[in-house]
Amino acid sequence: MKMTLVSIHVEKSPPSFPLAAAMLKTALCADGSLNGNNISLAEFYLPADPKAAAKEILSTSPDVAGFTVCIWNAAACIQIASELKRISPGIITIAGGPQATAAAEDIADSGVFSYIVRGEGETVLPELIRSITDGKSETSIILDSEASDLSAMHSPYEYALTNDRGREGILWELSRGCPFNCSFCYESRGDGSVRNIKPERIIEELKLFRKKGVERIWVLDPTFNYNRSRAEEILRLIIKYCPDAHYTFEIRAELMSIEICELLAEIDSSLQIGLQTVNSDALVHLNRSFSRKKFKAGCRMMSDFGLSFGIDLIYGLPGDSFDAFCESIDFAVGCVPNNIDIFPLSVLPGTELYDKADKLSLRHSGFPDYELISNSSFPESDLQRAAEITAACDALYNREQSFAWFSAAADAVGMRPSALFAAWANRRSDDIPAFLSGLFKKADRVSLFPPIENFIIWSRTAEAAYCSPGDVFRVKLLWRPEILDELSSAPAEMFLKRHPKSVEKTYSITYDGEELYIN
Ligand code: SF4
Repeated sequence: MKMTLVSIHVEKSPPSFPLAAAMLKTALCADGSLNGNNISLAEFYLPADPKAAAKEILSTSPDVAGFTVCIWNAAACIQIASELKRISPGIITIAGGPQATAAAEDIADSGVFSYIVRGEGETVLPELIRSITDGKSETSIILDSEASDLSAMHSPYEYALTNDRGREGILWELSRGCPFNCSFCYESRGDGSVRNIKPERIIEELKLFRKKGVERIWVLDPTFNYNRSRAEEILRLIIKYCPDAHYTFEIRAELMSIEICELLAEIDSSLQIGLQTVNSDALVHLNRSFSRKKFKAGCRMMSDFGLSFGIDLIYGLPGDSFDAFCESIDFAVGCVPNNIDIFPLSVLPGTELYDKADKLSLRHSGFPDYELISNSSFPESDLQRAAEITAACDALYNREQSFAWFSAAADAVGMRPSALFAAWANRRSDDIPAFLSGLFKKADRVSLFPPIENFIIWSRTAEAAYCSPGDVFRVKLLWRPEILDELSSAPAEMFLKRHPKSVEKTYSITYDGEELYIN
């Protein structure tokens, strides 16, 4: 029997990695239900052409095609499975993955899957393949799986990285489950249990990543620093066995410690923090507790160690409103993260919010996206305004990497960060300095604009230099770049008192791959 495991990614990017397929292949081989030579992995990217994808899958002559179905690729999986069935009616199609688990009946209703595996596939898929091989039939097309014993599972990376053509990034699973119980998420499914990979396997995998020259590693552990001693142990292993890759971790700011910051400062890393909201009404609905003081202290600690971190927010939460969402943005900007990623609420099947959607007046689009249409405190028109602010935050804060000067600019024109983002929606030009100059004029604070403008010019030049090591960039500034950096912690007015405007000079900026030189 031959099987093809299909992964459909959002886009061609380093984190697009067929981890689930590699895990299933590993489980099938370890169990002996299929020989590794008879299992192919196929990868596609959205928008995937169903006809071309089906042709490619059938080129390996599989008897079975297994799909990892996620919220973003459910429609594509159904189209490709449908095409497979049309061309090769005898093929057995299996849907697994998060969306097959959360919305098994919806996936079954598509009528294109022979089986739907609900839960973790590593235990049930080998059993299913054996019974297909033995010609036995299942009583239901929806099969439930038990949680796997992660400590007993083999590493998938030997398969995932075999014959790899220089993959830039990988997903590295360290645990499953979450000790928290956020009502919009199904990671813990409410039982609060966490299963961890053993240190011995972590060491072997790190050695393999180094041997294969993996450059970027996205760590799959939703609260990496929840268990501080384990986080410290893993960071020490990373430093010892694979220190040269760039790691991305999901962490809780409130739980950050000096020891973990010190270890993180020894490697190249990015940290992502799911703040979601600071609105106390919404937090109650989310089953989340939150301390502004502890969160800010954690962010300050990370900044002091020079760590790069980002904050995630969600709009449209039950109990939230447009004004409260703006307050969450203002709080997030005040924590000076490197990026702020904002998402509309998705009311995902399998979560507490989905079950309570009617009671909480959460109208959503249903299968396959489940995106919020409105809730009683967040009407459609406000969702539209929130989407505009999201786009503005992306343009003005994330893409511009303006974390160092954004608060100084907002403060100088007397606007809250969220109001400044909202103003971007009504801009006359996409030129950021021109847009800001207009705001400074309107606020009658023109004299405060030059340091901000110089900081933007300086940040853009430094960014260009980092992207082109060895090249020399010349830039005209009124202040030395090191002095402009003070704007990240001082209002423009105070900056000008300390450093009155001086004569414009030309600086040469170059980056040698390790350090930035300013002459
Ligand atoms: S949102 Fe994060 S912290 Fe909350 S349950 Fe999900 S994984 Fe855990």
